[in-house]
Amino acid sequence: MSSKDWLEKDFYAVLGVGKSATADEIKKAYRKLARENHPDHNPGNKDAEDRFKAASEAYDVLSDDRKRKEYDEMRSLFGSGAFRRGARAGGSGQFDPSDLFGGFSGAGAGAGGGAGDRRFGGAGFSDIFSSIFSGGGAGTGGRRGPQRGRDVEAEVTLDFAHAVKGTTLPLTLRSPGVCDTCHGNGAKPGTVPRTCPQCHGSGLISRNQGSFSFSEPCRECQGAGSIVDEKCPECRGTGGVTKNRTINVRFPAGVADGQRIRLSGRGEPGEKGGPAGDLYVQVRVRPDELFGRTGDDITLTVPISFAEAVLGTDLRVPTLDTPVTLRVPPGTPSGRTLRARGKGVQRRDGQAGDLLVTIEVQVPAGVSDEAREALERFAKLTPTPERGRIEARLRRG
Ligand SMILES: [Zn+2]
Ligand SMILES: [Zn+2]
Repeated sequence: MSSKDWLEKDFYAVLGVGKSATADEIKKAYRKLARENHPDHNPGNKDAEDRFKAASEAYDVLSDDRKRKEYDEMRSLFGSGAFRRGARAGGSGQFDPSDLFGGFSGAGAGAGGGAGDRRFGGAGFSDIFSSIFSGGGAGTGGRRGPQRGRDVEAEVTLDFAHAVKGTTLPLTLRSPGVCDTCHGNGAKPGTVPRTCPQCHGSGLISRNQGSFSFSEPCRECQGAGSIVDEKCPECRGTGGVTKNRTINVRFPAGVADGQRIRLSGRGEPGEKGGPAGDLYVQVRVRPDELFGRTGDDITLTVPISFAEAVLGTDLRVPTLDTPVTLRVPPGTPSGRTLRARGKGVQRRDGQAGDLLVTIEVQVPAGVSDEAREALERFAKLTPTPERGRIEARLRRG
């Protein structure tokens, strides 16, 4: 805080005490104001929030003997309000309330402060405010002003055919929400949380240690300012529950394994009118027992017999739509690929990939006697001229 602020602000008036007030009177005055104006008890009340902050600011200085002495001296030296703007008396600036409250515009208030080692005085004065005004009880958060909802990640596994042709699936997401049973206050229906007797609802306890005064979250109520005696059975007193919501997600035709789909604004809802986050869906595609995929082409391997390869055949093969018949020409070697145009993955431009059918000539592990006789006859009738050069090398030794 700058010295100028000290001169411009009458902390005694803020707390409604006289200049000679005792530490105990100051504490009492502060507690009363903090209790009356605590954001928890005045949701959405900007004036109460301002009074609460002003009281905390005043108490921070007046509750600290050393700071109070400096404050008194400075005001008697320079005179209230007579200090030139921009000038600084220097020396005692330990924190700056413009940093403190800068960016804080939230009208409402989250629930009580979080636990942790946060204190007034010295450094970290602003921490207590971020603690008070952030997060808390209902799990609804509530930091400074409108907040964009969180992005949500989900993973979906699609059937092969669904990925190729596109599909719409309902996706159930679990996200935190306010408990409907207790409306977030954590108390059993019919009961209300009572004001914490330790901190009188402020959620803060101040203690003096040497010349410093620390304000730390109240241990009795964990900084919430209130105590729940009978917990809400639905949320077990937390005020928050996990809610399921179902949204329909459209997966475009041709979506591939490993692809990530972004659905703008389908993540967690924003707070205080902030926009919703985005939903990212990580796509997994379950492999098909028959089909594979290379880019926009779908692949299929079809075994045929040696005789079919030699004599040629009409091959009826499945596609992701209706089956097609492919002509296997006579003399087709194993490993040759035949193409069924347009039977692959539908592209966005209206074109489609192909179905690539790879021929795999099967060699039977055993044959019947009759087949053996036929094959032996076949062998005599069918030389292997391609092996000529191998034979020649063998003859040369
Ligand atoms: Zn509840
Ligand atoms: Zn308390």
